[in-house]
Order: sequence, then C-alpha cells, then structure tokens
Amino acid sequence: MRFDVMTLFPEMIENYCSFSILKRAVESGVISVNTINPRDFTLDKHKKVDDTPYGGGAGMVLMAQPYVDAYESIIRLENSITVMLSPQGEPLNDSIVDGLAKAEQIILMCGHYEGFDERIRDIIKPREISIGDFVLTGGELPALCLIDAVSRKVEGTLGKIESADEDSFSNGLLEYPHYTKPREYRGLKVPDVLLNGNHKEIAEFRFNMSLERTKKKRPDLYERYKTK
Ligand code: SAM
Repeated sequence: MRFDVMTLFPEMIENYCSFSILKRAVESGVISVNTINPRDFTLDKHKKVDDTPYGGGAGMVLMAQPYVDAYESIIRLENSITVMLSPQGEPLNDSIVDGLAKAEQIILMCGHYEGFDERIRDIIKPREISIGDFVLTGGELPALCLIDAVSRKVEGTLGKIESADEDSFSNGLLEYPHYTKPREYRGLKVPDVLLNGNHKEIAEFRFNMSLERTKKKRPDLYERYKTK
C-alpha cells in the first residue's frame, strides 16, 4: 500500500509514521508513506499557497494552482483512490477502512486554514472523508488516522499477536475486556474462566461480554447487529 500525502506540513506525517507498528510496516515495505508539499509547486514568487477569500470573511483559502499542480505531479498506480480530508465528508468507519485497504495507492489531500478553493474539488473530484463532526486546524491528523487504520488492515502490518480480527467493529460488536498479570490487583480479580484453559468456555465468555458491552456502550451498534 502506497500513501501519498499532500500537506504543507510533511514533518507531521513523517514523524508519526516513524514510530512503533507503522515504522515497522514502512521498514518492511508493507506500506510506503510519501509526502508532497504544494508549496514546492507554487508559481508565486513569495511561495504563497493561500490567499484571502473572495466575498470577504475570516481566514485564508488554499489556492488552486499549487494544489492542483502538486496533485498532477503524483504518479498514479492502477488501483488508486484520492481522498480529501474534510469535515464535510462521509464519516470514516471500519467498513470504509476495509474498502480503502483494497487499494494499491491512496492519495490524501490535507487542507489547512479555511480549507480548499472549491475549484480544487471541481478539478480533482476526490472522495471526501471526515473523521467526525468537529473541526480541526488541518487535515494532517485525519490523514494519519486514516493511514493508521488502513495500514492495520494491510496484510503484514500487524504480527499475528496484534491481529485485527477480534478488534471492535470487525464483527459488528465492541471487543470483549482484556486482562493481564497479576491475577489480582487492588482486590479486582481476573475472571476465573480466563484461567481454566478451556478454549470453548473462554470464547463463549468473550462473546457474551462483547454483546453485553456493545448493548451498554453502543446501543445503535447492538440494534444493527441483532437485525443482521
Ligand atoms: N472551513 C472548513 C469547513 O467549515 O468545512 C473547515 C476547514 S478546517 C479549519 C481545515 C482543514 O482541516 C480542512 O480542509 C480539512 O482538511 C481538515 N479537517 C478539519 N476537520 C476535519 C475533520 N473533522 N475531518 C477531516 N478533515 C478535517
């Protein structure tokens, strides 16, 4: 999986991807994360990439020329998806992540300031994705959320030990609770069933806990699961 991230702040992307599981995935060639800075493509002699909005109003708007030229410089692989990070996009969820993980390349467009000149959307026609109904200062954190979530679904990123199969949402439910050593902490004991080595009973216990906590914490998911 190749990620091409269009951003005015490439270090934010590079930094996050140089730790832990993503770092390992990059080093082993399972994913690659490249950055493209629209500032390198501006024809403005002062390297400007934004300007004031026509019609007035607060904030600066990302200019079309540097962004579109930067986009057109990216070599497109056959199975490529372009995503604009935007609070106006479809809300990201596990099934969108699954779909994106099938691509060979994801081009991510990070906005900043007031956002994009509308002609960037008109010309590039990206899929717009939001990470929730709130507004951040830039698209870098949303892009990283997407890179992280998609990478976990790409074979080879997670070792067997970190498998995503039982994570929350994979079967429509929230995951069951986890415990590790010691067996007792501040009077709170690990449930006996997890210590008895009976895999069938452990699986049953975990499934029931999954159902119970989904019903309690996310009744919307629970209702959807029941009618599946
Ligand atoms: N003026 C825009 C609006 O009201 O729709 C918001 C612009 S926001 C301050 C700047 C950039 O941050 C956006 O262009 C987008 O790339 C990113 N961004 C902010 N919130 C986001 C969210 N919830 N999901 C995805 N991207 C977001």
